Amino acid sequence: MTRENQYENFLKFLDKAAEVMHMPQDEYIILKYPERELKVSLPLKKDDGSVQVYDGYRVQHSTLRGPGKGGIRIHQHVDIDDVKALAAMMTFKCAIVNLPFGGAKGGICVNPSTLSITELERLTRRYTSAILPIIGPEKDVPAPDVGSNSQIMDWVMDTYSMTKGYPIQSVVTGKDIDVGGSLGRKEATGRGITIITQQMMKALDKDIRQMRIAIQGMGNVGSISATLLHEKGAKIVAVSDVSGGLYNKNGLDIPVIIGFIDSGKRLLKDYDDGVSAHITNAELIRTDCDILIPAAMENQITAENADDIKASVIVEAANGPTSKEADEMLNSRGVLIVPDILANAGGVVVSYCEWVQNIQSIIWEEDDVNHMLERIMTRAFNEVYESAVNYNCRMRYGAIILALKRLTNTFKKRGMYP
Ligand code: GLU
Repeated sequence: MTRENQYENFLKFLDKAAEVMHMPQDEYIILKYPERELKVSLPLKKDDGSVQVYDGYRVQHSTLRGPGKGGIRIHQHVDIDDVKALAAMMTFKCAIVNLPFGGAKGGICVNPSTLSITELERLTRRYTSAILPIIGPEKDVPAPDVGSNSQIMDWVMDTYSMTKGYPIQSVVTGKDIDVGGSLGRKEATGRGITIITQQMMKALDKDIRQMRIAIQGMGNVGSISATLLHEKGAKIVAVSDVSGGLYNKNGLDIPVIIGFIDSGKRLLKDYDDGVSAHITNAELIRTDCDILIPAAMENQITAENADDIKASVIVEAANGPTSKEADEMLNSRGVLIVPDILANAGGVVVSYCEWVQNIQSIIWEEDDVNHMLERIMTRAFNEVYESAVNYNCRMRYGAIILALKRLTNTFKKRGMYP
């Protein structure tokens, strides 16, 4: 399967949104070009004494509305176009939820599971020191993404702090609680997905408890979304991980499945409750359900499987799970897509809470963080929905239009330097 150029896709969506709102190119042209792109080579001494060099990136797409913000992706398929696209998506995501951040993204091109923990630590520290000149609490604040977690953020914080000579928690978010992380950050993206799914159902006048949901991906985002939506009374009929998935038309026992996954490196292919059927990831996408939540990687919904999708609503928990072609096909069939830049913004919202706490040396209760998340996500949902209704367009363009207005207003007021 050929991989789409994600940055080209972003540009097409951007131009289309501008066309819908009749915005002349001059007003938004700066958003077509990332402000800064850094490519670094990262030598790593492996545990066996050999040396390997990996590619790393940090792209700051825009700092119009605040410091760059966005995760570090550690994955064997990371390339500069992916990182540019993901950085641009962060610019729009932060504008949609109205945070005082711009958009950035980083990446290291390696499969982290092929490295030992000590190799991963050395590579993370080397990467941090290579991008150190362009990151900082007021410049660009990294966070976790696919393949990275709180441990990696703790090493980033430590490396940055050691170089500066004093502890600087606010340089990175998604840290462990003991290193200055925020309560609620780990669950934030999945909690945001749940809030947005509930809001979508409310707007459609549907009861979440009547909904059958299929979730692709049982990483942090997928498993928290499954747990919370199950708690809200929805029927989770299918879930999957890299090894494959499970299906039960009467609803899966999510707490038991999560318990199984959490009890070590357990894969769903080895789960057996005697009633649930084993399905492939391809079958999960085609599952008979009402809501499909792709929570794994990009490009999972393509022209090849879009027409087989039975769900009437798709909530994009992953970044870029739907190809441009599939997006058109689904739209023409009336399938409603809640776009990634709105749906999965919960992570960066609580990253903002973490950054604010770090800067002020204060600690918020988990309830306060969750309330803030709920308030921001609900407001953003309503604004995107309203924007889509006003411009008579789908929610993806409604979301881009909302962000474009905010970004171009800031640009107009700040003016062009020099
Ligand atoms: N990687 C997450 C995202 O794509 C979180 C970014 C952040 O918290 O800065 O939204």
